[in-house]
Amino acid sequence: MRVYQDRQIIDALMQFAEHAGATRVARLAPESVCVEDKLAEFCRDPKCPYWGQSMSCPPCVSGPAGFRKLLQSSRHVIVFRIEIESASLHGEDRPEVMRLLHEITAAIELEAKRLGFPEAVGFAGGSCKASFCADQPYCEVIAGDGHCRYPDQARTSMSGYGVNVGELIKSAGWSNHLFPENTTDDHGQLAWVAGLVLLR
Ligand code: SF4
Repeated sequence: MRVYQDRQIIDALMQFAEHAGATRVARLAPESVCVEDKLAEFCRDPKCPYWGQSMSCPPCVSGPAGFRKLLQSSRHVIVFRIEIESASLHGEDRPEVMRLLHEITAAIELEAKRLGFPEAVGFAGGSCKASFCADQPYCEVIAGDGHCRYPDQARTSMSGYGVNVGELIKSAGWSNHLFPENTTDDHGQLAWVAGLVLLR
């Protein structure tokens, strides 16, 4: 019975994700998510400018060990990606693109909680400090002044947990072919950003 219920909820969540703005959505088994300690270490060395700048990035997160524990208590994983023009991702629109990634991740997580996975937790990419609080002198939580300014929108980044996003995309069955159909040169080249939600 639970298997049947899960399938229905997952179908609904995948549709929800597409309506929220995801280009592609897939369900994965938790054991197919690859976590590598060395990937999380890249946040510190070479040091990301946002290291220690928000509650959702190292060293304030539980890292690969914490993520592996979460995976063990997850029944399913929803992975999604947003495909956009490369110029947007790598240009001045980047903070907005990453903000959209956070917002979609948070929306799927909240919907999953509503539909029957009360401990669902979402992971986005990029620092929330850059996309939500760039004009603020500090992260409200780290400063100890209070709660996150964007609790229903900002999420932690997969990077700080060592999630191998390239392998995640392969596991989802998506190629890295990032050119629109019928395009033979670099014009309009696409890029992607990905997020995931653990269903618990
Ligand atoms: S207050 Fe801003 S920087 Fe701190 S966790 Fe929330 S969104 Fe991120």
